[in-house]
Amino acid sequence: MGELRADRAVCIGAGMCVMTDDAVFDQDDDGIVVLLNENPEVDEKVRSAVDACPSGALSIREE
Ligand code: SF4
Repeated sequence: MGELRADRAVCIGAGMCVMTDDAVFDQDDDGIVVLLNENPEVDEKVRSAVDACPSGALSIREE
């Protein structure tokens, strides 16, 4: 398990997360990350998106 967190203050709008998993991530009009589901299942795709994020805005809190 684990809890996905997206820090919109850190996000630089690179969009890597959306390209990696558009079922979980979206971007608002300014390009800043939005989670489509507040508590998505943290699967391999989500982990790939966290790894791909260049700003460090995404993190997974392991429980
Ligand atoms: S990959 Fe990171 S910096 Fe880029 S939009 Fe997603 S959260 Fe923001």
